[in-house]
Amino acid sequence: MSGMNCNYQRRVTARELTAALSETECHHCRVSARVLLERGAHLEVCAEEFGSDIESGERLLVPIALCPSCHRKNHLDAQNRHNPCQFKARESRERMR
Ligand SMILES: [Zn+2]
Ligand SMILES: [Zn+2]
Repeated sequence: MSGMNCNYQRRVTARELTAALSETECHHCRVSARVLLERGAHLEVCAEEFGSDIESGERLLVPIALCPSCHRKNHLDAQNRHNPCQFKARESRERMR
């Protein structure tokens, strides 16, 4: 892990982590894990929302693999500040549109 403050990385299970990191490319920019490795970097796990539970209202998350730069962008809010919660960061960006 890069040490970046990511809420999801604190709660991800070993199984979800393994599944996400077995991806061969970044979920966003499609850079391959091999190319990243040549740069001394590797894929990082984060999560995407695919809906919410109708009864509990809880977010349903899917683990995704991101390269370090996409992961960083995933956590930037509308003011370009890092938010450990990627969903709050995204909501902030979407409010700006
Ligand atoms: Zn990427
Ligand atoms: Zn993250």
